[in-house]
Amino acid sequence: MNTLIELKDVNFSYEQRVVLEHIDFKLKEGEFWALIGPNGSGKSTLINIILGLLKPDRGSIKLFGDDIERFRHRELIGYVSQKSNSFNSGFPATVLEVVRSGLTRKKGLFKRFSKHDHEKAITALKVVGMENFARNNIGELSGGQQQRVFIARALAGEPKLLVMDEPTVGIDQQNVASFYSMLNRLNGEHGIAILLVTHEVDIVTELATHVACLNRSIHFHGMQSEFHRMGTEEISKWYGHPVRRVHQYEGGQMND
Ligand code: ADP
Repeated sequence: MNTLIELKDVNFSYEQRVVLEHIDFKLKEGEFWALIGPNGSGKSTLINIILGLLKPDRGSIKLFGDDIERFRHRELIGYVSQKSNSFNSGFPATVLEVVRSGLTRKKGLFKRFSKHDHEKAITALKVVGMENFARNNIGELSGGQQQRVFIARALAGEPKLLVMDEPTVGIDQQNVASFYSMLNRLNGEHGIAILLVTHEVDIVTELATHVACLNRSIHFHGMQSEFHRMGTEEISKWYGHPVRRVHQYEGGQMND
C-alpha cells in the first residue's frame, strides 16, 4: 500500500515555544486515522504542517511519496476545516456553486463551469447524501448539512485523502452519528483515506482504523484495536486530565 503522509522527526515552535516534538507519523492508502489530543496539544499545527501552511523547524515530510517541497498534486488532498460550516443565512451561493468552487483553485464561486464540472459536483453531493439540496442556498442549511456540503466540495476534486480538523464542531449530537457513518462509508466503500482531528476520545476511535494520540509528541500511534486495549487511566495520563469513553458506535447509533 502506498504511503500518503510520512513525517519523520518533525519539530515545530511558535517563536521560542516548542509545540511539536519528534513527530513520526505515517498514513497509508485506504486508512482512516483519528488524530486525538486535548485542546492546545498541537493538532491544528500538525495539520497546517501537513498542508504545507507551516514549515517545521526540523524533520522531513513526504506526501504521496514526494518531499513536500516537490509535491505538485495538491488536488489529491481534500481539506475540511472546523470553520467551514459557518455561512449565515444571507450568503448568496447555492449548494451546487459551493461544491463546484472546490474544483479548481482559480475559479471563483460564481464563475462558469463545464458540464463535466457540474457532473462531478452532483456526484460528490450524492456521496454525502445532499443531492436534493443542490439548488438551495448554503445559508439555509443546518451546521451538519453545511458540513456535508463542504465534504462534497472537498470530494468534487476526487481526492485520495481527506483531512478534517474538528469537522463536527457546531453539529448537534444527533447528526454527529450520521455524519460519522458517512465518513465510514467514504472510507470503506469509496476507499478514501481519512485523517480526522478531534479532541473527543469517543466515537471517532471506534470508527477509525488507526489512532494517533498527540500531546506535543506522539504518545500512541497504531491500530484501533491496540488503542482500545489501552486502559482509560493510561489514556488520561498523556491526555493530561481524566478521560471518559462514553460512546459506543453501533450501526450509526450512539449509545451512552
Ligand atoms: P490544538 O489544535 O490541539 O488545539 P494548536 O495546534 O492550535 O492545538 O495549538 C498548539 C499550541 O500552540 C497551543 O498552546 C496554542 O496556544 C499555540 N499556538 C497556536 N497557534 C499559535 C500562533 N499562531 N502563535 C503562537 N502560538 C500558537
